[in-house]
Parts: sequence; structure tokens; C-alpha cells
Amino acid sequence: MSESAPTPGNATPEPTDFIRDLVSADLAAGRVTQIHTRFPPEPNGYLHIGHAKSICLNFGIARQFDGICNLRMDDTNPAKEDVEYVDSIIADIRWLIDGWADHCLGLGPRDAGSPEPGSLRSAVVGRTPGPDAGPFHASNYFEDLHAFAVRLIEKGKAYVCDLTPEETDAYRGAPDRPGRNSPYRDRSVAENLDLFRRMRAGEFPDGARTLRAKIDMASPNVWLRDPLIYRIRHTAHHHTGDAWCIYPLYDFAHCLSDYLEGITHSICTLEFEVHRPLYDWILTQLELPRPLPHQFEFARLNLSYTVMSKRKLLALVNENRVTGWDDPRMPTVSGLRRRGVPARAVRTFAQRIGVTKYNGLTDVAVLEHAIREDLNAIALRRLAVLRPIRLVLTNLAPDEVHSFEAINNPEDPASGTRTVRLTREVYIEEDDFMETPPPKYFRLRPGGEVRLKYACIIRCDEVVKDAAGRILELRCTADLDTRTGGPNAAKKVKGTLHWVSAPDSVGVEVRLLDRLFTEELPEAEGRDFRSCLNPKSLEVLTARVEPALANPEPGSRFQFERLGYFWPDPVDSRPGHPVYVRTTGLKDTWAKAAAK
Ligand code: ATP
Ligand code: MG
Repeated sequence: MSESAPTPGNATPEPTDFIRDLVSADLAAGRVTQIHTRFPPEPNGYLHIGHAKSICLNFGIARQFDGICNLRMDDTNPAKEDVEYVDSIIADIRWLIDGWADHCLGLGPRDAGSPEPGSLRSAVVGRTPGPDAGPFHASNYFEDLHAFAVRLIEKGKAYVCDLTPEETDAYRGAPDRPGRNSPYRDRSVAENLDLFRRMRAGEFPDGARTLRAKIDMASPNVWLRDPLIYRIRHTAHHHTGDAWCIYPLYDFAHCLSDYLEGITHSICTLEFEVHRPLYDWILTQLELPRPLPHQFEFARLNLSYTVMSKRKLLALVNENRVTGWDDPRMPTVSGLRRRGVPARAVRTFAQRIGVTKYNGLTDVAVLEHAIREDLNAIALRRLAVLRPIRLVLTNLAPDEVHSFEAINNPEDPASGTRTVRLTREVYIEEDDFMETPPPKYFRLRPGGEVRLKYACIIRCDEVVKDAAGRILELRCTADLDTRTGGPNAAKKVKGTLHWVSAPDSVGVEVRLLDRLFTEELPEAEGRDFRSCLNPKSLEVLTARVEPALANPEPGSRFQFERLGYFWPDPVDSRPGHPVYVRTTGLKDTWAKAAAK
């Protein structure tokens, strides 16, 4: 058992990290009375394992400190967003944080009544949608955000700018070179109000004008060089339809959405650290009643052999390099779920990697370890042979059957036992036999002996081949005296093999998954992530499995002995025709292969 596994009898200790320390300090000093976090995905793709880290942090803090976490769709960019993504996000979070629902707002069905657009904060704060309410939407605040923008204009803190996007970029300068003021910067408040009204009314085409905050074109922080806060987009929005043709930009919408929802701790990834002065500037200039939300940053998750950008994941889906967002090889939450990864293993992983201020690379083996540890405790042990070769026990009559008791899960005595039947013909794994094996090969060889798990020791007497030299069958002798309870039960051999009875076994489709990428850093600079796609990431086989695997309960977890953890694919399995997906192997075969 690993060091960080919970000690039996003790509750898992609550995690600690620098953000939780800040939260504790704010509570202790009375700066906040109730912690309120949020998770704000943009519905432009499915959630991935990096989002899972943020979900476990934001919802986990709410749970730990008896606070609340809002699920908010950060849906201010209509061009790339879609309700398909909204629905998948809700489903994925529900699965991931199953059981923490008391501390979540916005996880109800999407159509069960979203929180309504409010007239500024009072309407939103204190409105606690019941467990059935759908997620919050930044787009529900468009009216409020617009009113805030008008207020900034009135205060002389925002102006309508007619520079083209290219000119705007050129005027912005660079980190080592100050920008230049836009020639439209000194428009009067009246003119700005009029133009902004006409922008909203749809008088101008996309890109013709923007609304910009008036801050400082010479600021060393480029995000403060009169950032755009509204742009024109004549595009229907998945949530607000045709109501708007101007849309707020992220920095403007985010801090104000946090404010409207009464968020106390707005936790985001490190690349937003440079946006924090803008976050605070907007809230301060609007002279909003306090308390104001505060932004905190942590290091995003980077995982080896994985791409994490939604744009790249979308490309994998669109280019048919995977079967969909929920392809079990994908690092998406829905892919992990379909692969049979328990939600608890993802939460354990998130807790184990911790929360820091420094960007690093997490080895995907850490995730695989958490998955194995979880499945080891719950998976039923079964016998299956992926690449069968026939073995004939010549000293058994054709209809002779010997029954043996097999333990379902040594980690869980309550899971009981079942009967496996030894018959004259059985299958073993092709690579468990070698005619001329290397030293220290403890599996079957001509003249050699192995134990068939749960049954008895067998000896290989003869290898029967076809004209082309391919092995047709292995002719062996079973020593029934070596079975449990037999007179020679204590006899030891070095190799124990998994096997199935040939007549009892059933053929089922099995999908073996490997990492989607062959390189540790598929997103490294100068590399097209497509160039290191693993051509062997999916192998489909027809395996022979014991009858107890022929008709599994949906959601069952199995350990195919010596082969790994499997479960029936929830999409492609049919009653009586399961399709088994390997969730993970038993040991880190990748590290071994890489070392060769
Ligand atoms: P992408 O760049 O892939 O599109 P994103 O960060 O824009 O991802 P969002 O939907 O905006 O995706 O993310 C929602 C939340 O999840 C944000 O608060 C973001 O900081 C967090 N998040 C995204 N990726 C990671 C990651 N790899 N590790 C931790 N948190 C992440
Ligand atoms: Mg984002």
C-alpha cells in the first residue's frame, strides 16, 4: 500500500495547500463569513483531466469549509460554444463529485430553470437555486454587464474605439515597448454613449468598433493597455439567441460575474495572474458595494503523454483520430469515465498531486497508479485469455470435468467465490508458451511444468504444428494430485498461468488501450501533436473468457488475472455481447518498455 493511502479506520485527511491556507485565514480573520467559489468552464469543448483538478479544488474547498461552489458557464464567446458542451459539462461534474451535491449550485438539469438574469448583485446574491436548477451562465448577466459598461463610460473610464483589430494590436506595443494612445481615446462621454448604444443596436458590422477600458497605454502590464471589453459579433448565442450583437470579453465578464454571484475566492490558473490587476481595476472603478471577490492563481495540470488544450482535443475528434470526445483513450472526463476509471480515483489523483504555484509536469503514471489502487479493491477477479492457444490434457477423457473454487476478490472476502471448470481442452495465452525460451522463463515450455491457476500442475509433452510450422495445440498431462486438497497439493512450480476451459469459454471483443501519444510532451514547442500519435493506441481482439464474464452487470469492474482491469464498454456492449475495455494494465508496462 502506498504511503498516502488512507489508513483503515481513519478518515482520509482533508488536503492542505496554499489556497486552503488563504481560505482558512480569511475565515479566521472574519474577512468572509461563507466561502463561495465557482468553476467557470467555457462551453466550447468537453472537460478534461486538467479541469478535473480545478473542479476538485473549487468544489472541494466549498465542501471542506462548508461553503458553496457555483457551476458557471463562462459563455461570452458565441462563435465556439454549444449546448452539447453545456450538457456534457454538467454530466461530467455530476459524475466526478458525486456525493458533494450539498455544496454545489447549478448542477441540476439544464432545463429545470436556470438562475434568472438579475438586476445587479442583490438579485443574484441570496438567490440560491434549488438542487434542480441548472448552471449559472455569464450570458444571463449580459444586461447587467452592459449596464456596468455604460457606467464605466459615464465615469470617463471606457471609450468606443474605431481602430481595426490589426491597428489595435500595433498600437498596443510590446512588453518591452509602450503602446500608443488610440486616436479615439478622447471622445466625449456623450459620443461614447451614443456609439455604444448604436453598437448594441446593430448599426455596425463585426470588428468595426470596440469598447475599451481607458487605463494606461504605457503600463508595463500589457493587459492594462486599454483592454477591449466589448466587441461586435453578429452571431446567435446558444443561450441568449439573437438578443445581442455585442459581447463582453472574458476579463470584463469574469470579475463582474464573480461579483454578481457573491464569489469570495475566484480561483484560476497561473496564466491569469497578469490579468489580476485588470480584474481589480474594473471592480474598483465601478465603485461597487463591498465585499469584492478576489482572484487567486494555482498551477495548471500538465500530464505527460497527453494533450490538454480543448482546441487540440477538438481537432482529434474532428479529424476522426479518435471515435469522439468520450473515446476511452481521450484525457477527457467522459473518456476516463468510459474507460472505466472510477470517479474516486480521479479525486484521489487530484488530491495527491496537490495545488502549487509552480508549473510542472505530472507523470501520467501517477494517475494510472491511483486508478489501479482503486480498482484493486473493488474489481472481481476473472479468467480470460486474450490470444488463445489450445492445450489438450491428454489424460482427461473428452467429457471429464473437474470443478475448482476460485476467489472473486482476495481484497474483499464478501465478494465470495465461484466455480471454474477444468476440461480436457483449455486455452492459455499464446505468449505463456515458448519452444526455446530464454533463461528465467518460468512459463510453459516443452517438457516444462506450470500450474493452471486454481486447478493443478500440468506438463507439456508435445507441440503439434501445421505444415507451415504454426502451433496448433500443446499436448499436456494434468497432475490432478497437485490440486488443492490433493495428496501432492504442496508441489511447487515457478509459473502459474491463467486459462479458460475451451468448451465453457465464450468469445468476446476486447479493446486494449495504450497511450494516445508516444512522446512525453506532445505539446512541446515546434512539434505538431499529431506527429506523435501512437499508431498502436487501440488493439481489438476476440478473447476467450470464462462464462462468468458473458453477461456482466453494466458498470461491473473486473480484473482479468495477469492482464489488467477491464469493464464492459457502456456504449457498445449489448446484453449477452459485452465489449470489454482495458481500463489499465496491472503494472507499469510502459516504463519497462521505455527502459529497453
Ligand atoms: P483550454 O485552454 O484547453 O480551452 P481553458 O482553460 O480555456 O482550456 P476553460 O473552460 O476556460 O478552459 O476552463 C475552466 C476552468 O478550468 C478555468 O478556471 C481554468 O483555469 C481551469 N483549467 C483549465 N485547464 C486546466 C488545467 N490543465 N489544470 C487546472 N485547471 C485548468
Ligand atoms: Mg478559458
